[in-house]
Amino acid sequence: MAGGWDEFVKKRCPSSPSPTANARRTAFARSAPLPGVSSRTVHGVRVRGVDVGPETRCSHYGTDRDVVALRFGCCEAYYPCFECHETVADHDSEPWPRERFDEPAVLCGVCGAELTVGEYRDCGHSCPDCDAAFNPGCAAHEDRYFES
Ligand SMILES: [Zn+2]
Ligand SMILES: [Zn+2]
Ligand SMILES: [Zn+2]
Repeated sequence: MAGGWDEFVKKRCPSSPSPTANARRTAFARSAPLPGVSSRTVHGVRVRGVDVGPETRCSHYGTDRDVVALRFGCCEAYYPCFECHETVADHDSEPWPRERFDEPAVLCGVCGAELTVGEYRDCGHSCPDCDAAFNPGCAAHEDRYFES
């Protein structure tokens, strides 16, 4: 593009004392991650959230058994918990839709198995693939994750 970024900034902010520097700073601030916010690839699957650990624990749920990430209907992305979604995503969360309960929507952070909602509900709070124990307390707020 002729003129490039400086030309573009001058046109946009003609009266600013140092338009280029200001614009660069703003652009950088916007693209930099928020403190403590991260995403991580767990067994080849992208998991977004706050301080996501190697087995998908997060800053909200970090016990031995908090090793699942859940996929949200709104963005089809995996998050360790709904609080992570609330913090990191730029939109309201939607639970995983009922008509897609036969698609993978739960990730085991220990082995990387992806479970459908049905498999997750039937697994007795442990991973059918690697036997890792899942947190049974998650069932208490299941409606945030799975459409009821
Ligand atoms: Zn979302
Ligand atoms: Zn979280
Ligand atoms: Zn597993």
